[in-house]
Amino acid sequence: MKIAVVGCAGRMGRMLVSEVMSREGCVLSGATGRPGSDFIGMDAGVVAGKGESGVIITDDPAPVIAEAQAVIDFTSPDATEEHLRLAAQAGCAFVGGTTGLNETQKNAINLAARHVPVVFAANMSVGVTLLGELTRKVAKVLGDDYDIEIVEMHHRHKVDAPSGTALLLGHAAADGRGVDHDEKKQAVRDGHTGPRPRGEIGYATLRGGDVVGEHTVIFAAEGERIELTHKASARQVFAAGAVRAALWTKGQPAAVYDMTDVLGLKD
Ligand code: NAD
Repeated sequence: MKIAVVGCAGRMGRMLVSEVMSREGCVLSGATGRPGSDFIGMDAGVVAGKGESGVIITDDPAPVIAEAQAVIDFTSPDATEEHLRLAAQAGCAFVGGTTGLNETQKNAINLAARHVPVVFAANMSVGVTLLGELTRKVAKVLGDDYDIEIVEMHHRHKVDAPSGTALLLGHAAADGRGVDHDEKKQAVRDGHTGPRPRGEIGYATLRGGDVVGEHTVIFAAEGERIELTHKASARQVFAAGAVRAALWTKGQPAAVYDMTDVLGLKD
């Protein structure tokens, strides 16, 4: 399968190029970087530390996406919106991991999915996908006398908060409990907050150093506490999941999918 990586010089972009180059059943067909980036004109494999790939990084995504059977995008919300549009036009499957999308950008996912399969997940790791499913199940069993708090920590460069993964877990908890996530979400506590409202889904965001990503979902009641934790120590897990998702899109009808579809976890 011909796979293109857009934003290939980023932290995740390099991992993705490396994963596509070493995985059987796929070939790196193209790679892009941000217009004006120093990496334009360089070999994508060299930038990823994998040696020559023969693929030169360009700043024009349209021909790169048109040439590919699937494109993988871990860039920025604006860029992802444009790449989704181009993939839909070109009939190219789309795998996206960018977080922090606004409502218009999220809608671009649905528009593209009218034409091509789109796998979008705030966390592409197998472990977090399972954590999401466990969270849903635990929240379904426990009533709202168990307070749900989601704690996450990431490296100091991360630009959005709470993390896309924390929100994915919060949505899974709300789903399991049968409540509206956005009504129950509490992402900011500062000053005289008063006691914790029953049923709230709270978030705590930690930032620092080089932490790849750690998430804990806490269910706390009088007398006991259940904690579900995932710790990613290498970005490789996200890249491996994304390439697995790209290979999975082959032959899938146009629709929006997530990693539970890719891993066959849907009920
Ligand atoms: P990064 O800043 O290191 O990389 C982003 C790259 O995108 C940069 O190289 C930037 O130049 C490039 N880019 C921006 N606009 C572009 C454009 N128009 N065309 C081409 N390239 C463009 O960030 P990162 O740590 O690699 O994370 C990228 C995104 O992926 C973030 O939103 C992050 O939260 C998300 N992420 C998701 C997962 C997941 O599993 N879903 C895992 C890790 C990171």
